[in-house]
Amino acid sequence: MNGRSDPSRRAFLRGSAASAGALALGPRALGGFGGLPTLGPKTEHVVLVAFAGGVRTREVLGTPANVPNLMRIAQAGVAAPKVRCANVGHYGAALSIFTGNVEVMGIRENERGLRPTLFERLRRDAGFGASDVWLSTSSGAQGRLFAHSDHPDYGAPYAANVLDGDGLFNVEFRKVLDAFGKPQPDSEHERATLARLAQSLDPGAITLPKGQTLADPEQIQRVAGFVLDGLTGGTSRITGPGGGDAKAIRVGLEILRVFRPRVLGITLQNHDVAHGSFNGYVEVIRRNDQEIGRLWDAIQQDEQLRDKTAVIVLPEFGRDRDLNERNGLDHGDQSEELLDVFMIAAGPDFRRGKVLRDEVRTIDVCPTLLRLFGVPTPRDVEGRPILGLFG
Ligand SMILES: [Zn+2]
Repeated sequence: MNGRSDPSRRAFLRGSAASAGALALGPRALGGFGGLPTLGPKTEHVVLVAFAGGVRTREVLGTPANVPNLMRIAQAGVAAPKVRCANVGHYGAALSIFTGNVEVMGIRENERGLRPTLFERLRRDAGFGASDVWLSTSSGAQGRLFAHSDHPDYGAPYAANVLDGDGLFNVEFRKVLDAFGKPQPDSEHERATLARLAQSLDPGAITLPKGQTLADPEQIQRVAGFVLDGLTGGTSRITGPGGGDAKAIRVGLEILRVFRPRVLGITLQNHDVAHGSFNGYVEVIRRNDQEIGRLWDAIQQDEQLRDKTAVIVLPEFGRDRDLNERNGLDHGDQSEELLDVFMIAAGPDFRRGKVLRDEVRTIDVCPTLLRLFGVPTPRDVEGRPILGLFG
């Protein structure tokens, strides 16, 4: 299944370069870009889970017992065991997944990137609406930076909505919840609870694109409403190793259920506990696997999402080959364990039960998703669509 000899792939690659200049006309309007095959006719929603804390292939594809749920998803889709990445630090490496370019952010990791993210491109170039792109992050202030770049033609007006799980479930929020108790079926009580909860939300935990603000009462009610739903499942009290990631995945699921976005990004980072503890790192891998399995099952049980939703999971980079003196794993030895990662992708337009033999790159994910939604690879994106995913 080496796609390089496939004539349709060659035609696609030629066409994608030739039509990149036609973006301004709007991709859907062009009717398939001059005869290019439509790669994603069935996919309406994508959930992109980025392990932004460094995870090796060895503890995932190499140890199926750690990740029974990811193995299940791989069986329903594609496992790619050869995914090359650039080790440019956590923020730069994770951002590279979202921009399709290797992003070297250096030490100033509190600044936004300069090249448009997947979210911005879909909003500007594919006509997605403000509620179509969402990001759920456990990466705090830095995680919010994945929502948009500082590119002058894209940027804040085309940003993803961001929910920061840890910020949402803040102390004030919990106090209000405790005072009210769990929501009751009667709507009057629930309305009052929602109103109080909305007031206690940390505005910093919710970042909406320009033009949408928290002053919009309907938006507040919807956000508070689904947070409340999550709370009844105990989301606010998730603690322990991987607790931040678990919240981000559960918040992501609630976003999916309530807002039904076209693209939902989830960035996780608790794996990075590996610096100090290999065992803690494996524990996070297992816990995140459970949560991703829960997310996957919820999608399969949802009439409106099943058969229309793709799930893609990959790390930003791996980790060192050898344990450090703390019995942990750093990320800096430039070994294959660090630079070769994996990807698991399942969705209605992807192959089923396949192992992708092609060597691909983490920066190929962004142009793949753009192509899935009808946007040819822009000239300033280094990555290329992963055609071997498509059946
Ligand atoms: Zn680290």
